[in-house]
Amino acid sequence: MIVTLKFGSDPEVVRRALHARGLWVTPLASVEGGAIQHFLIEPHSMKIEEEMLLGLDGIQSVSKRPSPHPLVDRQGPGVIVSGVRLGGMAAPVLFAGPCSVESPEQINTLAARVASCGGRFLRGGAVKPRTSPYTFQGHGEKALIWLRDAADRHGLLVVTEAMSPEEVPRVSEVADLVQIGSRNMYNYPLLTAAGKTGRPVLLKRGLSATVEEWLCAAEYCLLSGAASVILCERGIRSLGSEPETRNLLDLSTVALLTHVHKVPVIVDPSHAVGRRDLIPPLARAALSAGACGLMIEIHDDPANARSDGPQALSSKELAALAASLEKGVSHAS
Ligand code: PEP
Ligand code: MN
Repeated sequence: MIVTLKFGSDPEVVRRALHARGLWVTPLASVEGGAIQHFLIEPHSMKIEEEMLLGLDGIQSVSKRPSPHPLVDRQGPGVIVSGVRLGGMAAPVLFAGPCSVESPEQINTLAARVASCGGRFLRGGAVKPRTSPYTFQGHGEKALIWLRDAADRHGLLVVTEAMSPEEVPRVSEVADLVQIGSRNMYNYPLLTAAGKTGRPVLLKRGLSATVEEWLCAAEYCLLSGAASVILCERGIRSLGSEPETRNLLDLSTVALLTHVHKVPVIVDPSHAVGRRDLIPPLARAALSAGACGLMIEIHDDPANARSDGPQALSSKELAALAASLEKGVSHAS
């Protein structure tokens, strides 16, 4: 919403009155004189009554700002992916699996573990966005086949990443949920290609993306035809990047997206914190903040994992975490 001030009113007095009502406001300067004539009132978890605003001293009128992401707004807080409910009133859903699909045996063993912990989605990268071009880049097509096969054997759904528009058609044949990785959140041709398949999309947050940029990226997917979009918070680059924790898990934004924007969001504490010992507490915090699911990396031999070993939980640790979340995580039926 945008409020316009009465001529001659004091913007500071109006700002204080809006703040006193718990509203979050951004001043908008007029083009001509530079003086503040309008305040943008950011979306809020409480309903903001127009009459209440008009009743405040100094406010002339109230208008609605057109949303830059109307399809995301219309999607609502809950979606269904291949029969599994995410968000809204549904119990949180567990997504787990290795960082990279390494072999048919590895993914099959881990799929069994995910299913026995009540997980619904098997994750695993077939193509890997790696910082160094000299590190393992994924087994590609072979990995997609191993992943689907393992998921089918254990009654799980598949989420896996497509890194380029050319990969999207094949990934969407295999995956129930097409993952767009953090590094690609701004890759608009990729978002459009993923949307065109009509599949649901899991959109990870860019390393430094604002909420509006992230929601607009989701809009690209829906506009081009995605069945639905689920967001995934996976940690952002923070000021002075802390070496002991890989990224900053932004739970404020998880709460904002869930309670104010009302979009389904899952949390990936593995890539956020980068170390297995801190994943259980962050997983619990994520659910408290409103996440509708968790994506967790696991490995049975983390010391020899082809990627992201230090952040992989063992199957036993995943089972303990799932048990500690008790009724927080939905179980396969
Ligand atoms: C992943 O989930 O496999 C991954 C590479 O994560 P991100 O895009 O968040 O780095
Ligand atoms: Mn990883």
